[in-house]
Order: sequence, then C-alpha cells, then structure tokens
Amino acid sequence: MKLSQRITKIKPSPTLAITMKANALKAQGRSIIGFGAGEPDFDTPDHIKEAAVRAIRAGFTKYTPVGGTDELKDAVIEKLRRDHGLSYKRSEVVASCGAKHTLYNLAQVLFEEGDEVVIPAPYWVSYLDIVVLTGARPVVVPTSEENGFKMTPSQLQEALTDRTRAVILNSPSNPTGAAYTRREIEALAEVVARRDVLVISDDIYEKIIYDGLSFFSIASVGEELKAKTVVVNGVSKAYAMTGWRIGYAAGPEEIIAAVTKLQSQNTSNPTSISQQASVEALRGDQGPVAEMVRRFAERRDVIVKALNDIPGLSCLCPQGAFYVFPRCDGLFGRRAGETVINSSSDFASYLLDEAGVAVVPGADFGNDAYIRLSYATSMEDIVEGTKRIREAVLRLT
Ligand SMILES: *Cc1c(COP(=O)(O)O)cnc(C)c1O
Repeated sequence: MKLSQRITKIKPSPTLAITMKANALKAQGRSIIGFGAGEPDFDTPDHIKEAAVRAIRAGFTKYTPVGGTDELKDAVIEKLRRDHGLSYKRSEVVASCGAKHTLYNLAQVLFEEGDEVVIPAPYWVSYLDIVVLTGARPVVVPTSEENGFKMTPSQLQEALTDRTRAVILNSPSNPTGAAYTRREIEALAEVVARRDVLVISDDIYEKIIYDGLSFFSIASVGEELKAKTVVVNGVSKAYAMTGWRIGYAAGPEEIIAAVTKLQSQNTSNPTSISQQASVEALRGDQGPVAEMVRRFAERRDVIVKALNDIPGLSCLCPQGAFYVFPRCDGLFGRRAGETVINSSSDFASYLLDEAGVAVVPGADFGNDAYIRLSYATSMEDIVEGTKRIREAVLRLT
C-alpha cells in the first residue's frame, strides 16, 4: 500500500505508545507501575460533570459554530482577562478538540516548506511532528540543566534566521517542569520584538505551578508582543479533563479565522457537551484546581527525593507541570547480564522489563541523557515505583 510522503515522515506519539505497552503488560497480569502517562490521575470535578449532564438533558447535542459557542469564547475571554489582564474579541478566539488539535491547526495555517520553527529542547514530543507534517523545518535549541532547561535570549537570537516563522514556548514545560520567570519571559520578548516572528505560547500547564511562583504570559509583555503571540491553552491538565478534548487559541484575528476555516473542513466544532463542561470549568469554582496542585506538590517532593537517592540518577526539582526529568547517563555502559544500557531507551526498556516500571526515554523529548516520569499517579505508586527503580539500578554492574 502506498501511503503519502507526509505520513511516513512522522512517528506515533511515544508517550501514548509507552502507556499502551504498559497497559498490555498489565493485561497479561504483570504488576506495572506507570510513570508514562501525561494526564492527571484525578477525576474531573463534579460541578463540571454536572454541567455536561445538564447539557445532554437540555438537548445541547447538535453542531455548534465551528470555532466554538459564543458562551465558551466569552468564558475564554474572561479567563484571559482575569488571569493575565489580556483582552481579546470573540473573533480572536477559537476552540478546538484539545490543545494538541489547536497546535496542529495553527501549524497547518502558518507553516510550509522553507519555513523554520524554533523549538527549545527538551520539548513536548508532538511539536516536532506537528511542524514536520507541514513541510517546515523544526530548529531545535538544546537547553541545559545548568540553565534550568530554559532557553536564553542569546540562544533564541542565534536560532532566528530570515526563514523563522515562529518560536514555540512551553512554560511550565513538559517534560522538564521548568517554568520561566517574568524577567526571563521579558528578556525573550525583547529578542522577539526586534524580529518578524510569531510566538506560539503553549500555556497548558499554567495552573500547575509551585513554590509560590506565578505564571507570566509573553502576550502580557505589551501590545506589540500580544500582536505577535498566539496563546494556546485548554482544560485537559488544569481541570483533569483530558478525555473531554477542548483546547483553544487566542491571537491575531487573521490567524484565528484561518484556523476556523481549516477546522470547518476537518472536525467542525469540538463536542457540544464538552464545550458546556469547559464553560463551567473556566467560570466555576476553581477550588479543585488548587487542591490538585497541592497534591501534585507533595508528590513532587517525594519523587524528587527518592530519585536523587538512587546512585547514578540526579533530578532537578521542577517548578511546574507534573513531570520530573532525571538524568540517567551516569548509568550508560552498565549492564545486567546480556543487557547493556547505552541510551535512555535502553534504560526505559530495562525498567519496564526488569522492574515493571514504565517511564519515557528522554530521547523522545530531544535529550538522550534523561528519562521522564509523570507523578500524576498515587503516592503509593510513587513510593513503590521509585523503590523498584532503585533496586533495578543497584542490580546493574
Ligand atoms: C497535554 C499537552 C498538550 C495537549 O493537551 P490536550 O489534551 O490536547 O488539550 C499540549 N501541550 C503540552 C505540552 C501537553 O503536555
């Protein structure tokens, strides 16, 4: 069967693949502790579920406008004003089937062959493939642990060429948990302001931030930056709503109109019921978010300490999201019987096969010296899982 060039250039999402492999082993009866999944383990708050039930009962089960209902757009507009002091019109907002879909749509309407898109590494797995699908070239900027996995203004400056169309920012970051401070964002904004480039700001982990830090959006730097920025966000992570599939973008009207046109020829509107639930998520009681963040913070402290206690692993304490990104290349060259660990994939396979622990190789995020663990899982699993990792590492010779 001949498939298009386009589809052969990309790979399946490795995080979804690991989760599926772990689930398959579980189904065979093996005890697997999963640190692979990129979603909150908490249930969607009840008041949000109730809004969906009400929508179904009221017969709100038909097509809506392609880019989302006015009510959802207004809830997004209020949220962006309330949280960041940003003001947008309805024509500057579009809702899609998850933030991943939003990013995909944006890439399709903005990029093409010959364009370059700057992506700091370690990056979220999907950015690369989403960009590659358009024919544009991802320009990966490697950040270092010494800089807290944050891109410096001079690194950004050096990465920009006449072909650069956009830079993708993600703070707090998946996979590192790094969160840029206001000053760091302002310094990057200065570089962007001098050039004809867009910023795609993936703010999906905005609410999941610790230690009293507060999120700062590059769009809030000023009108000039706001005009160059497309803010991307969604309800998946903050409200434990990954299955509902609602994401959104706010940005220049021309871009939003193009995304809406594209969407009119593929998915049409995102699910009507999920839109009603998302209105409630954005407008309703924010208490459950704070509670989830509190629980994530406790788990973070436990997992970071447990990982740093394992000889050969070391781990920064992340400021946001629900991932840790420990360094594991200290173990490269070590072996267990026939198995030699020479890469993050070798190490992840070893942990899955020998310890029954699922983690994602750092190579998938653009840095092979690391692995990613999600701590959106129970404290029990964190304690047992890190114990298993420790024992498996100590068996290496
Ligand atoms: C989870 C995630 C998304 C996508 O979330 P949706 O469920 O599609 O809304 C986007 N960006 C990052 C960095 C993520 O981790």
